[in-house]
Amino acid sequence: MIKGNCLCGKVHYEVLKLAGPLIHCHCNYCRKTHTAAFSSNLTAKKTDFTLTSGENYITFYESSPGKQRYFCSNCGSSLWHEKKETNQLMTIKMGSIEEFPEFEQQEFTSFHIHCESDKPWLTYENLEKHQQLPK
Ligand SMILES: [Zn+2]
Ligand SMILES: [Zn+2]
Repeated sequence: MIKGNCLCGKVHYEVLKLAGPLIHCHCNYCRKTHTAAFSSNLTAKKTDFTLTSGENYITFYESSPGKQRYFCSNCGSSLWHEKKETNQLMTIKMGSIEEFPEFEQQEFTSFHIHCESDKPWLTYENLEKHQQLPK
């Protein structure tokens, strides 16, 4: 059982099991939504997802026709997205996960996609060059 929540803690959810590989998406939409180099996602069937608290805080932004990006209206954490054409499935934002016991027990396939959209200041090559901040 995967468990996750938003930054402010109003929204909590549980996911019974995954329905596909882990996807790290570098597209411009994910970069902007998460204001990060890429977003890490897992796919689950909607029937395997339960919102355990915070339903009233859930809102969404439709980033392209039929694609809704859900987030907490109190703290802004991205939580999942849904697409019209894959309406049985949802894509959960892995940065919100707190417990993922299956991850320790089995190997998951993961892919990086849309890497061609990377900005130079966010590529692996350049991030690796950065040093630790001296303490
Ligand atoms: Zn929140
Ligand atoms: Zn993306």
